[in-house]
Amino acid sequence: MSRPVVEFITDPRFVKRARELKTMEAMVRMYCRGHGHDGPPCARCRALLEYATRRLERCVFGDAKPTCANCVVHCYGADMREQVRLVMKWAGPRMTLRHPILSLFHLLAGRRPAPGLPGKLARK
Ligand code: SF4
Repeated sequence: MSRPVVEFITDPRFVKRARELKTMEAMVRMYCRGHGHDGPPCARCRALLEYATRRLERCVFGDAKPTCANCVVHCYGADMREQVRLVMKWAGPRMTLRHPILSLFHLLAGRRPAPGLPGKLARK
């Protein structure tokens, strides 16, 4: 992992992204357990979480980021994007009962319009 997750979560510059990371962690853990892996997430799910953490840390929108589903950049590689899609599809409906607050924040974030590309990237 490029940076300890705990540092990322407690850094005030990353509040929104830290919440997204918590949501992603919750969904991946549910998905992994729901697919027969008791205990800590399996290697494949851990790799997905580490990848998502790096993407969140380096998101070009910073803390103004839209939900990744509404993003115009889509920085995930095809394989990881497909993995996330499967996790979201399976865990999304289950989140409302297991993690209602995270689920509500994610729902509200998804309704906000996506911002334009920041700075130099917008002019390319
Ligand atoms: S998909 Fe878009 S919003 Fe999500 S991390 Fe990548 S650049 Fe940021």
